[in-house]
Amino acid sequence: MKRIVKVTLILLGVILITSNCDEDRGFVWMPIGQEKMLGLQLDSTIKASPSDFPILDRDQYSQVYAFMDEIFYDILNNSKEPLKYKSEFQWKLTIIEKDELNAFAAPGGYLYFYTGLLKYLDKTSEVAGVLGHEMAHADLRHSARQMQKAYGLNFAASILFGDDKSQLEQILIDIGSGLAALQFSRTDEYQSDEFSVKYLAGTAPVTAGYDCKYDPRGVAGFFQKLEEAGASEPLEILSTHPSGENRVEEVEAIWESLGSPQGESFETEYAAFKALLP
Ligand SMILES: [Zn+2]
Repeated sequence: MKRIVKVTLILLGVILITSNCDEDRGFVWMPIGQEKMLGLQLDSTIKASPSDFPILDRDQYSQVYAFMDEIFYDILNNSKEPLKYKSEFQWKLTIIEKDELNAFAAPGGYLYFYTGLLKYLDKTSEVAGVLGHEMAHADLRHSARQMQKAYGLNFAASILFGDDKSQLEQILIDIGSGLAALQFSRTDEYQSDEFSVKYLAGTAPVTAGYDCKYDPRGVAGFFQKLEEAGASEPLEILSTHPSGENRVEEVEAIWESLGSPQGESFETEYAAFKALLP
């Protein structure tokens, strides 16, 4: 009991100083330092659960990671829409070797991308689009807010101060099963799509005549592909990322509002990359 009181007091103290008002969609009570710790704890729990989260080995698949890290850092270092927590968050990309159409963002900048989704996509710009979308969920603190909403205001403190491993494991089970409470709202989804377009528009062009490196509409390419496939099949990514209406049109509109910046899709390069995957 004493511990709970103490933790509550600490929390209250920090909240008053550092809480962020996330417009009208609820406070992210969790201080940034705590969010980073939570992300680190989740990341180590994921690494300790290879049966649920089999991690693609970084040394064995160094070329795969080099390719993905390049996109990751291009987005992180984009010049048009700087990430708010660029230097504060950990920003680490891990590839899960599993045939699922999935990618997710844990609090604190820990990103996970499934090989099933990498194999499903056809262009580097589509990977960049989905990655940008996930990075936006982390940077806009959607991930932290959803967890706070699902597990209560004090859950992070109880994990960090109480060393509550079972709750960490439960969170991972919930992530894995696409728990409804962890789903992002439609507003979060649209906002992450918007930031994905802006991040990609800010990547430095590598070919003369282009405005940026990756086609900023990459994330729409992914939705288009789902639509063409009929999307009647169960798709894991939709369980944590509910499909919104007109997301493709929204992406187009945001892109046009930026002056329709031209980027590349790197389809040929992407085919070569896919051959490296297990
Ligand atoms: Zn999303």
